[in-house]
Amino acid sequence: MSGGDNLDFEIRPNPAPVGDAERTALLANPGFGRIFTDHMVTVRYADGKGWYEPRVEARAPIPMDPASAVLHYAQEIFEGLKAYTLPDGGVAMFRPDANAARFAESAKRMAMPALPVETFLRSLHEIIKIDRSWIPQSEEGSLYLRPFAYASEVFLGVRPAMEYLYLVIASPAGPYFSGGVKPVSLWVTPDYTRAAPGGTGAAKCGGNYAAGLSAQAEAIEHGCDQVVYLDAIERKYIDELGGMNVFFVLDDGTLVTPPLTGTILPGITRDSVIKLAERAGHKVEERPVSLEEWRSSAASGQIREAFACGTAAVITPIGVVKSAGAEFTVGDGGTGPVTTEIRKQLVDIQRGRAEDPFGWVH
Ligand code: PMP
Repeated sequence: MSGGDNLDFEIRPNPAPVGDAERTALLANPGFGRIFTDHMVTVRYADGKGWYEPRVEARAPIPMDPASAVLHYAQEIFEGLKAYTLPDGGVAMFRPDANAARFAESAKRMAMPALPVETFLRSLHEIIKIDRSWIPQSEEGSLYLRPFAYASEVFLGVRPAMEYLYLVIASPAGPYFSGGVKPVSLWVTPDYTRAAPGGTGAAKCGGNYAAGLSAQAEAIEHGCDQVVYLDAIERKYIDELGGMNVFFVLDDGTLVTPPLTGTILPGITRDSVIKLAERAGHKVEERPVSLEEWRSSAASGQIREAFACGTAAVITPIGVVKSAGAEFTVGDGGTGPVTTEIRKQLVDIQRGRAEDPFGWVH
C-alpha cells in the first residue's frame, strides 16, 4: 500500500522566519546550496499505513537515530528543479511532472515506496507558496527545490526499510553563469566508471554521486571542470558527465546523444532538447558515440559542437576534452551556433519569453 494520493498538508508556519532586511541581503548574492528558506515539507511513510502526516513546517534539523537504515545502506533518492519568477510576476516551474515521474522510477529501483505524483507536485506548490518571498527576482536567479526521501527505519538488517521520510527543502540560487555562458573542459576518467548495466545509473540516488566524487576530484587534478564517464563494459562509449547529459552536433545539424539503456540518468533537459531540436528541424539520433569517434570527428570537423545539459546550467558548451595522454578541442573551443540556438529556445520557453508549445511551464 502506498496511499497518499490526495493528502491535505497541515501548514505550521515558522514562528521565527528570517526578517525582510536579512532575507533581502541574503538574496543579493545567494550563490548555490548554502542558504535555505524558512520552511520544509515532511511526509512520513510506514508499511501498512502508507504516506501520512504531510506537513509544511519550520525548517529544522531532523532527529535521526544512529541506526537509521539510510546511514548504513544508503536507501535514498532525490530530485532537483527550479522555481522562478515570470515577466508577468507569476511563479513557474519547468516540467515538475517529469521530476515526479523520475522520482517514482528512482524509488522503484531503490526498493522504496513511490510517492504519488499528486503529492509530489502538491508538496512543491506548498513550499513555493509559503516561501515565495525567497525566490530571487533577478532574471537568471531561481529557487532551487530539493525533494528527497530516505529510509528512516531504525534497523540494521539488509532489506528494504519499512519506514521512510520524504522532505522538500528550498534554496535560493544566483545565475549559474555570472559572466556569460562559458565552455567547460572535460576529463575522461580512465580509472572510474559511473554505472554498469543493471546498476543504478538511471536512478537519482545519493550513492551515485558519492561514487563520483573521486572521479570529479581526478578531473580537477587534471585541470578540468567536469568528469565524463565511459561505459563500464567496453570503456569505449561516452555515457554522461557527473551531473549532466551530453549532446554532439554534426556538421549537417544532426544532434546525437547517448541512448537511455539504464546506465545514464534520463535528464529532463535532455528530453526537452530532443523535442525542441526536432521541432526546429534538426535530426536527432540516440546512439552510442565512442571517445574515438568524438576525437576523430572533432578533428575532421564532422562533429562541430558538443554540449552538456541539465537543470542547473541548462546547456553548457564543451570546449576541450582531455584523457590520459591526449587532448582535443571541439569546434573552435567556444560556443557553437546550434548550442546557442537550442539554449536560447529552451531558456526563453522556461522564462516565459517565448511560446510554450509543449506545455512545459507550470
Ligand atoms: N545526469 C546526471 C548524473 C545528473 O545528476 C543530472 C542532473 N539531474 C542530469 C544528468 C541532468 O538531468 P536534468 O536535465 O533532469 O537536470
